[in-house]
Amino acid sequence: MERVGSKAEARKAVADARAEHKTVALVPTMGALHDGHLALVRAACARAEYVVVSVFVNPTQFAPGEDYDTYPRDIDHDMELLAAEGVDLVFTPSAAHMYAEDASVTVEPGPLGNRWEGEVRSGHFAGVATVVTKLLSIVRPDIAFFGEKDYQQLQVVRRVVADLDLQVTVASHPIVRDRDGLALSSRNVYLSAEERAAAHAVPAALDAAAGALAWGERDARVLERAMASVLAEEPALAVDYVAIVHPASLEPLETVDRPARALVAARVGATRLIDNCELVPPAVAEGEVRA
Ligand code: AMP
Repeated sequence: MERVGSKAEARKAVADARAEHKTVALVPTMGALHDGHLALVRAACARAEYVVVSVFVNPTQFAPGEDYDTYPRDIDHDMELLAAEGVDLVFTPSAAHMYAEDASVTVEPGPLGNRWEGEVRSGHFAGVATVVTKLLSIVRPDIAFFGEKDYQQLQVVRRVVADLDLQVTVASHPIVRDRDGLALSSRNVYLSAEERAAAHAVPAALDAAAGALAWGERDARVLERAMASVLAEEPALAVDYVAIVHPASLEPLETVDRPARALVAARVGATRLIDNCELVPPAVAEGEVRA
């Protein structure tokens, strides 16, 4: 496994793999790797002959006052984990190398980037869209892997790739959860034992929506209230939003009469938690109705 810090080295390594007619996959990450990241890496290794993982804490996707400086970083451990998975190349550029001092062009994802996370984290998705576009342009993979954990990010990336005619397949991977139901996240290391206990209300709220749907409730507002009432039982949680949305546009839905997505974002202490799940109404799940 090779580690490179410059764009030129990354391009050269990928060009060498291409010369051997290898298919190339990219898994973009911010490091502090856990089993959620490694699930993406394994999927990439299964689909491509040459696997690139980028480890880059992207400053432009952190809003002012967010945790850019304190974001967990452990590149030595990350390298060990990635070597064990059989990754070919790890790209670890510095922020100064990624962004020229006079860089002025950004990728603006449009309305999809302004709602939900985009409303709470101003400029976040322009930062994500720009860095993902740059990484895709440097590595030029056949396929790039993103987790459903960051569901809105996944949809933003899909829009960027479609609207800018980027030649890459976007592959997604389901959320990997801890045994207690909490979605794995690099930020979970911030949680105290009490905060972690409170955080369980987040996946529990999603379960409540899925459960109510399974019992026949299709009114999105009623499902959102079911989620909100589970979250409200945890006084340590401050809810940013709960929403039932269209799975691609992320526009709020009135009725769940086709597959939808439930989104939750909440804060516990200084840590922000986001989670989501697919909602499939029973008739659709059984294949009886499809609009
Ligand atoms: P991050 O390092 O947090 O930017 O995440 C890098 C990639 O890993 C993103 O595509 C995330 O959606 C994905 N990811 C992070 N946590 C999980 C998880 N628990 N399950 C699945 N994918 C994840």
